[in-house]
Amino acid sequence: MKTNPLAPTRRSLLKTTAGLGATAGAALLGASASAQTTYSSAGVPIFGLPSITVPIVGGTQSFPVRRIYCIGRNYRAHAIEMGSNPDREPPFFFQKPTDAIQYVAPNTVADHKYPTLTKNYHYEVELVAALNKGGRDIPIEKALDLVYGYALGLDMTRRDLQRAMGDEKKPWEIGKSFDQSAPIGPIHPVSSFGHIGKAAIWLKVNGTTKQNADLGLMIWSVAEQISKLSQAFELFPGDIIYSGTPENVGPVVRGDVIDCHIDSLPNLSVKIV
Ligand code: MN
Repeated sequence: MKTNPLAPTRRSLLKTTAGLGATAGAALLGASASAQTTYSSAGVPIFGLPSITVPIVGGTQSFPVRRIYCIGRNYRAHAIEMGSNPDREPPFFFQKPTDAIQYVAPNTVADHKYPTLTKNYHYEVELVAALNKGGRDIPIEKALDLVYGYALGLDMTRRDLQRAMGDEKKPWEIGKSFDQSAPIGPIHPVSSFGHIGKAAIWLKVNGTTKQNADLGLMIWSVAEQISKLSQAFELFPGDIIYSGTPENVGPVVRGDVIDCHIDSLPNLSVKIV
């Protein structure tokens, strides 16, 4: 049976985890059901872990995700609205778990579950760079050689929890790094589509424009982000980087539809349920 490379994640994940049974497959999609664990005769638990992948445009392959890095406050106006110094401070990064990925196929409106514990759930539209090479201390001028392709992504944020933890000087984890907090569209390989430099980036809620900027306004370019990241972490194929959001982030509630766009990538749409 031929597999559509742009089919929803469900198909490819169920395929890669066929041996785990339907329950494990469902867990990958953010369902609450937990995987069944079986035990060997010696009492050792036996279970598989999912391979998290994102479909690649123009082929039958999917891109395996190793780590999800995100840069904070990478547009001047967004840094100001977050209450921080808009001057060019060193970039800072955080991570999301790979199973935060929610693949959203083009020309679909995926249901995106309103998460627990928050009353202020925010969108952040972002360009995502996917690496197929790694290394340490990558010079800026070589950094884009690591980029396999680009996708459109959302860094969904429980803003109230992020702020509360920040106020207490505690980690952001609960505000940023939860299930399905990283919706993403298909990856567009540089080999076919080229690099993405200046390009319009926007986000609408229920048809009303909320965020509207240009990727050229990033404080730290993708190349600079890769270079900086590689000083702190050894980068590997499969690492992806959410490159920050422009200003005018804001809340959504159940029933809202988010549409987002970056020139040359297909739009990404989710409905909050
Ligand atoms: Mn972000």
